[in-house]
Amino acid sequence: NISSVQLDQLDLLSRHSFPPCMRKLHEHLRSNHHMRHGGRMQYGLFLKGIGLSLEDALRFWRDEFTKQIDADKFQKLYAYNIRHNYGKEGKRTNYTPYSCIKIIMSNVGHGDAHGCPFRHSDLPHLKQQLLAWKLPVAGINEVVEYVSQGHFQLACGKYFQLTHGIQSDVNINHPNQYFMDSQNVLS
Ligand code: SF4
Repeated sequence: NISSVQLDQLDLLSRHSFPPCMRKLHEHLRSNHHMRHGGRMQYGLFLKGIGLSLEDALRFWRDEFTKQIDADKFQKLYAYNIRHNYGKEGKRTNYTPYSCIKIIMSNVGHGDAHGCPFRHSDLPHLKQQLLAWKLPVAGINEVVEYVSQGHFQLACGKYFQLTHGIQSDVNINHPNQYFMDSQNVLS
């Protein structure tokens, strides 16, 4: 059962309950005020999945993007896509948030912020990122061990354990499932 999430909760939630793929996108948007299509899809659908309303989603993206482009341009180039993701345009399909497998398999080019950090960041950058997020060094080494064996979702489960202070194994299959598990642990 998904409760609604308010805009002013996003920064806090991104630090405590977003999986690394979404935390990275959130921080990217906040600091660059722009995001390419792949990231807008991955992050936008995740936000829909955690209960952000269409109105709040439009406000969220517009507030960031219009730090760099004017509101008209935002309307023309980006608003349609956001409404589309909520099934309000085009075929009115109800688009579902991406699973881990889909994200891990996605094409990520140079300069893209989407994808799975465990799969798509090189190890030095991944370590740097985890340090910046204040993970203990011993924990980072455990995460990196999984990554170098190609176990990206196990690495994510380890990240979950470390950031939630729990010992029990956590299976991560979907970023939105990660979010709900996190909210369950923290509430
Ligand atoms: Fe996101 Fe899944 Fe990668 Fe974790 S394993 S960072 S939830 S794509």
